[in-house]
Amino acid sequence: MQIPSPVMFVLEALRTAGYEAYAVGGCVRDFALSREPKDWDVATSAKPDDIQKIFSKSFYENKFGTVTVLKDSMEIQVTTYRIDNRYSDKRHPDSVKYTSDLKEDLTRRDFTMNAMALDAVSAGDTEGDFKSRQQHRGTLLKPSSVSPRIIDPFNGQQDLRDKLIRAVGDPKERFGEDALRLMRAARFAAQLDFLIEENTLRALKELAPTIKFVSHERIRDELVKIIMSVRAGKGIDLLRETGLLAVFLPEVMEGYGVGQNKHHIYDVYEHNMRALQYAAEQGFNLETRLASLFHDVAKPRVKVGDGPNSTFYNHDLVGAKMTRQIMQRMKFSLSEIEKTSLLVRYHLFYYNVDEVTPSSVRRLIKNVGLENMDDLINVRFADRIGSGVPKAEPYKLRHFRYMVDKVSKDPISVKMLKINGDDVMKILGIPPGPKVGILLQALFSEVLDDPSKNEENELKKRTMELDKFSASELSEMIRKAEERVKTLEDEEKRQYRV
Ligand code: ATP
Ligand code: MG
Repeated sequence: MQIPSPVMFVLEALRTAGYEAYAVGGCVRDFALSREPKDWDVATSAKPDDIQKIFSKSFYENKFGTVTVLKDSMEIQVTTYRIDNRYSDKRHPDSVKYTSDLKEDLTRRDFTMNAMALDAVSAGDTEGDFKSRQQHRGTLLKPSSVSPRIIDPFNGQQDLRDKLIRAVGDPKERFGEDALRLMRAARFAAQLDFLIEENTLRALKELAPTIKFVSHERIRDELVKIIMSVRAGKGIDLLRETGLLAVFLPEVMEGYGVGQNKHHIYDVYEHNMRALQYAAEQGFNLETRLASLFHDVAKPRVKVGDGPNSTFYNHDLVGAKMTRQIMQRMKFSLSEIEKTSLLVRYHLFYYNVDEVTPSSVRRLIKNVGLENMDDLINVRFADRIGSGVPKAEPYKLRHFRYMVDKVSKDPISVKMLKINGDDVMKILGIPPGPKVGILLQALFSEVLDDPSKNEENELKKRTMELDKFSASELSEMIRKAEERVKTLEDEEKRQYRV
């Protein structure tokens, strides 16, 4: 693993100007683990004003002493050594005090593995060497000729070897200062497949309720990192075990201990969690993973009866609504919310080889969007595998995918009709109004059943024929067509009592 040259440049420039400078935090942890760091942070004894004087391409945008330096299209956060004071809101330090001591800066960091510094320029340097180098600036060693030394006052390297997440100092105090650290502990456990050290875990459990002081956005960012890690399911289970999940995702906790019917071996919670775990192992995207976690979230609320014959009717519809509410609360983006709730809404789609019709597949594509069909199929895979008793049916899903491909060129939205609203108005000599829309919908409904009807003259003829029906009659025709397609699906839902 190499330290990127822009980082070396920043470290050297600061040292040449007479300041101390080290790579610190997460990048040192990742460096020690031979993982590619996401970003490189530098800590220095230089004050923000001094840092800006050294680097022409830099900007100072917060009050915590961080200057962002731009070098060869890399952004490097350069932060003055600091001590955090009181955290009365459990989120932000009330004030920041600078220090000239690296060790003090490392002490304010959350976990031992994140409280290490990398002395990248001067391998084997001592304090004395550093002072003398300050007087002989021209004699700096070339970066390529040195191997970096890790400054590790809290035995972070040992904890890395032991795969342990351990708070720096007193865990209760550290979590008490900034409750986001509770989430960060769980996140690192999931990302790195580490355990949380005993005392740290005890404090985490004790202080879990204080996660409510942290903003939804910060919690969401950590949750997304857990969801996107390979051990996402295990990460969620750690959130449950520590009591964090109950605070910010109580809906997912509702399924804990809620038994299902004869088609399942796991309770609702464990099934959702295992579906997510499968989705993560397959490398599915964020929305597919979230939909796997949320697909059965409504089951506890719609459950009727108990034991092997209990039912969960409408859990797809209610689940989509709950997914939307959860994700709105956690401030996910609109497109993430729309897509995830759509996947939850349609996760029970029908795909039995001999019975699924092109017309039903077209209608599903119309509702879900062609671009989301692969993800929907993936949610169904996750659902099956997460049930613990997957029936041997991957071939069915493969066949379904083939059906999707086959009909993908067919008209699946009103816009793809060979006539439009203007044509309808011209043919019938009517002004704009709801009648035009409903007529187009009725034509579209017929084309969904038979794409060969999407032909200009045929549609014009059909427009005149349909004109004799009232708007409510047309709506009824559309509804009936949809129902015909839904019958098989409903039958299967009844069979599986979902
Ligand atoms: P990632 O790999 O996701 O970037 P990271 O550990 O680098 O993880 P950052 O948010 O980039 O996380 O923070 C960089 C460093 O700043 C951390 O390694 C840690 O030393 C310190 N740090 C970040 N957040 C906190 C916090 N809430 N409390 C204490 N120290 C923190
Ligand atoms: Mg980082």
